Amino acid sequence: MPNSIFKPGILCLITLFLALSSKGNENTLEIASELAQQAVESSLALKIATDLTTDIGPRLYGSESEKRAVEWARARFEEYGFDNIWSEPFPVDRGWERGLETASITHPAPQNLVITALGGSVPTPEGGIEAEVVVFRTIQALLDQPEGSLDGKIAVVTQAMEIGGYGRFSGPIRQNGPSEAAKRGAIAYLMRSAGTDNDRMAHTGVTSYQPGVRRIPAAALSVPDAQQIDRLANRHKSIRIKLLLTPKELGTVTSHNLIAEITGSQKPDEVILLGAHIDSWDLGTGAIDDGAGVGVVMAASKLIRDLPNPPKRTIRVVLFGAEEIGIYGGNYYVEKHRDELSKHIIAVEADAGQGPVHTFNIGIGNPLDPSLSIIRKALESLGVKAGRAKSRGGPDIAPMSNVGVPVVGLDMFTGDYFDLHHTANDTIDKIVPERINQSAAVYVTFAYLASELGGYYRAEN
Ligand SMILES: [Zn+2]
Repeated sequence: MPNSIFKPGILCLITLFLALSSKGNENTLEIASELAQQAVESSLALKIATDLTTDIGPRLYGSESEKRAVEWARARFEEYGFDNIWSEPFPVDRGWERGLETASITHPAPQNLVITALGGSVPTPEGGIEAEVVVFRTIQALLDQPEGSLDGKIAVVTQAMEIGGYGRFSGPIRQNGPSEAAKRGAIAYLMRSAGTDNDRMAHTGVTSYQPGVRRIPAAALSVPDAQQIDRLANRHKSIRIKLLLTPKELGTVTSHNLIAEITGSQKPDEVILLGAHIDSWDLGTGAIDDGAGVGVVMAASKLIRDLPNPPKRTIRVVLFGAEEIGIYGGNYYVEKHRDELSKHIIAVEADAGQGPVHTFNIGIGNPLDPSLSIIRKALESLGVKAGRAKSRGGPDIAPMSNVGVPVVGLDMFTGDYFDLHHTANDTIDKIVPERINQSAAVYVTFAYLASELGGYYRAEN
């Protein structure tokens, strides 16, 4: 923590000293440490993620499977004895279902390619298309082309995603790439997967079409296939690819946020919010994205539910729907709960895989809140260091952070996350008990301490 934050906070230091030295806090810290131990010993987060990915499987937004997942979570929270459990339906105007997806190089060295349609892509014309390709090593090289320069061609972008570069990559290349190619005349768009693996496996993920621009079919190539196209482009003037995609657009579909609460014993109207998203892409079973997060927040809240005394504030778990197609659940939550957001004390989300959690970053108005030092210390014993970045919490809670709800980021190790993310290989066997158990221990520690101690996270306090 930089010194400058503490300088004006003499009063605060005194408060902190009093807070730390009180008997009540000792008990609270003891309970938090027992909860963390139970999270590890029970491996409950992994059990929950295993049940979700086995009994439900993939959970594409707006699908019957996503609905089954919501009902599964409702039944589970009932079994855990939560006080209030309800779901909130909302419309998603981009209903979509994957179809067949094949591609091959037809000239000069015929071979099959491993591809997958980007989420929301339009189909190819019946029977597919075959055309000459234009290869771009960077998205900028494509953007530099004049209108009409890609008439009748398939645009292929082979730019590699660097580790840690997902945000910078997915927007310009996966989401905007197809429309930019279409503006220049392309009839289809292929990109190197947004992934850090070298497996022959493609990564899906949402694409979007700019209004008023012709919508062209769009798919991701596995990394080795994109590299193969690069090598061919170095050696040959002309490469032709055949592409077939048959996804269906379903118009407006319904998704749900599932909400479950443990009512606070002293400040029931004040909410500590734990989020994760219940939907997943359809290729794997959504284990790291975001079955692990669902397991972590459900396990953390269940352990708090089992305490002999309920927490002071209300613990609210929100399992958001339709995250993958564009944070529909997170945005709907803010719209629906606008009137009570001022009573949201703090929110945290688990949506970056299985962990472990390495850094505690805050995105709150009052960094001097004395409880933060206590929480930092407690998390330190679990291997979590205090960070200096301003957190936006996570994709589904960013909309509430944007309108002033204090958030924290319990930031997870993501060094291998983008090897599996949005692929058929995102399955439960990839989850390592020690990693997800540490995450659950960190989340339960944070949630419990925030409920018992925190409360002045807003700037006005
Ligand atoms: Zn996710």
